[in-house]
Amino acid sequence: MSELPFLSLREVNARHADELKAAAARVIDSGWYVLGEEVAAFEREFAAYCGVRHAIGVGNGLDALTLILRGYLGLGVLAEGDEVIVPGNTFIASFLAISENRLVPVPVEPDPADFNLDPARVAQAIGPRTRAIMAVHLYGQLADMRALATLAERHRLLLIEDAAQAHGASSRGRCAGAWGHAAGFSFFPGKNLGALGDAGMVVTDDEALARRIAALRNYGSAEKYHHLFQGINSRLDEMQAALLRVKLKYLDEDLAWRRRIARRYREGIRHPWIRLPEVREEEQHAWHLFVLRCPRRDALQQHLLAHGIHCQVHYPVPPHRQPAYAGGLAPDLPLTEQLHREVLSLPIGPILRDEDADRVIAACQSFECPA
Ligand SMILES: *Cc1c(COP(=O)(O)O)cnc(C)c1O
Repeated sequence: MSELPFLSLREVNARHADELKAAAARVIDSGWYVLGEEVAAFEREFAAYCGVRHAIGVGNGLDALTLILRGYLGLGVLAEGDEVIVPGNTFIASFLAISENRLVPVPVEPDPADFNLDPARVAQAIGPRTRAIMAVHLYGQLADMRALATLAERHRLLLIEDAAQAHGASSRGRCAGAWGHAAGFSFFPGKNLGALGDAGMVVTDDEALARRIAALRNYGSAEKYHHLFQGINSRLDEMQAALLRVKLKYLDEDLAWRRRIARRYREGIRHPWIRLPEVREEEQHAWHLFVLRCPRRDALQQHLLAHGIHCQVHYPVPPHRQPAYAGGLAPDLPLTEQLHREVLSLPIGPILRDEDADRVIAACQSFECPA
């Protein structure tokens, strides 16, 4: 029996090996490695892809989110101690970006149907110190951005998107990243648009914010040796930008393939103990992860592994239960904690073949739930 890996990045990138090597050679031969033409071109191309005016390349997805909040602090839109509403069931980076800036993450229970922020619960969580909502398009599905934008407008809140898992997700032609005041993307190698190292991007239509972040990522400097702000060093480098320009060309093709695999899973898996992910609109979902729920999750994972199928759990422990936030947040989030006990991510990606998907389906169907 052959092993089916969760995701083989080697195979993902091997499809474009010649083009990637040519892009790398172009950078090597250029003699210019940080903040040059490749980054500027990728920023233009990614802004156009998302349908926004500005894109600022940064070192990784966490820094993209951190710099958005830091930019708004500097502009006086946010102040230390302000509260930011965030889904309880996200990757810890969403929380870290908030607390790193001495803002207060206020975790809210998700809608278990689509794993994303539930606008009704967000409305309940808005208090006198609330200044922003950070929506996370978890697993690649857009949060309910229409409802969240309405709420944000009514309460004069910033709406920020953690779009690290949602490159290319869209609703009625509007892409992830084009819904909020600003959005952070990650190009970590395993994401739908993945670099061959760390990389990230801020996108926004807010020109003042864009200018500030372009300086903040580069020691607070827009002009060499002239420092407007106490910035950091978090730049997207020329090599990653050149490689990402190659991969951006294939993103839509890859998304179409992910949707095909997801449809196959959703049509093929019919099991009393397995709850399939719900989809609000087909094109909303970029299917970064295909996450099902099962009350006997660990037994199902073991069963699939016995069939050579490698799954993962996103995520085993929610941020508010991590030692990093011990004593700090500790709200009661029973729904979030239940999701973390039940979720399982099946293999999905642009290289998974139909017959691989069928094998996963058959293995799920043969799962006999232990008593
Ligand atoms: C990956 C990810 C991040 C962080 O991106 P990095 O590039 O790894 O720093 C942030 N938020 C979510 C939801 C992610 O999945």
